[in-house]
Amino acid sequence: MTSPTFIDTIFRPQILTLSAYHVADAKNLIKLDAMENPYRWPDALINEWLEHLRNAELNRYPDPYATQLAAIIRTVNHIPQQSGLLLGNGSDEIIQLLLMALPAGSQVLTPEPGFVMYKQVSLSLGLKFLGIPLLPESFELDLPAMLSAIEQHKPALIFLAYPNNPTGNLFDQEAIQAILKAAPGLVILDEAYAPFANASFMTALPEYPQLLVMRTVSKLGLAGLRLGYIAGHPTLIEQLNKIRLPYNINILTQITAHFALSNNQVFAAQTAQICTERSRMLQQLNNLGAITAYPSAANFILFRTPTGIANAIFNSLKQQGVLIKNLTLQGGILNDCLRVTIGTAEENNCFIAAIKIALNTCKSTT
Ligand SMILES: *Cc1c(COP(=O)(O)O)cnc(C)c1O
Repeated sequence: MTSPTFIDTIFRPQILTLSAYHVADAKNLIKLDAMENPYRWPDALINEWLEHLRNAELNRYPDPYATQLAAIIRTVNHIPQQSGLLLGNGSDEIIQLLLMALPAGSQVLTPEPGFVMYKQVSLSLGLKFLGIPLLPESFELDLPAMLSAIEQHKPALIFLAYPNNPTGNLFDQEAIQAILKAAPGLVILDEAYAPFANASFMTALPEYPQLLVMRTVSKLGLAGLRLGYIAGHPTLIEQLNKIRLPYNINILTQITAHFALSNNQVFAAQTAQICTERSRMLQQLNNLGAITAYPSAANFILFRTPTGIANAIFNSLKQQGVLIKNLTLQGGILNDCLRVTIGTAEENNCFIAAIKIALNTCKSTT
């Protein structure tokens, strides 16, 4: 029944060659690996939230349009009035929806390194996936390479993360505009890190009919809820809505996200604190001398270790109780690179203390 040959006949070959998305076990570790907001809510706010949950009619299906939640998402994000809006169970689900809607065998294009789900979902659906390398060190778009790939492969869909994960930079705006002009299909601006970026294409939506802007509440501070959204031309959103499962935003998420966004000042204060810590961390990392830390418009910092010791540094940090993300395994321009999420001041201090020790021990063994 589960013999390899049986499996081979059941599943698409692309799925058989994939590996499942791996999430590291963070038990008993300071968790600086997944771009989560480190802060909780004040107790008074938690109590007020719990009062709202009392009214949840768990016996009923949720509002399939999440009407109230959609309205506050529009306000908080300054989504142009004429744009359509679709909500997803995380922006991961929206990535899946977008790719499911493409004709079989369509070409998907994105700069690399980029967000891994673009490739994972494309391949699982049997789509053609092409990653165009970013320029080393600046991590800027290689515009000539992007434009010639667009010309040659006519991608049905292009993903651009703005700012980019895992590099943290905002791509040059004019390069993005050039891509928007050249693209024969959809262009998705993935603004997952908008709360930390102070830059956006949201207000440009009406100028580009093939542009869609996607965001999430995950990095803002609600990763546990699973809520993402995408705005764009209503005729595009209308098509995507046909393949969205009707009750994809559960009632607890609808009530909680609505409540949270009504108290947006709490997140504004938290994200401001994270941005302050980001500047401090960037300087502290670069002051170590051995490390090159790259400027970031997101809630994480990518940094490069001395050649060949990124794995050792990563493991030493973990042994000292600090979990970050090891990117050197991906190779290419991420060789010797690690990524740390900005935590609380206390967590960040632990990380800096631990990396000092790691640098000393790893140096002494080479
Ligand atoms: C984290 C992240 C997402 C996924 O967000 P969810 O809403 O939690 O699914 C999407 N895009 C980028 C670039 C991300 O870094």
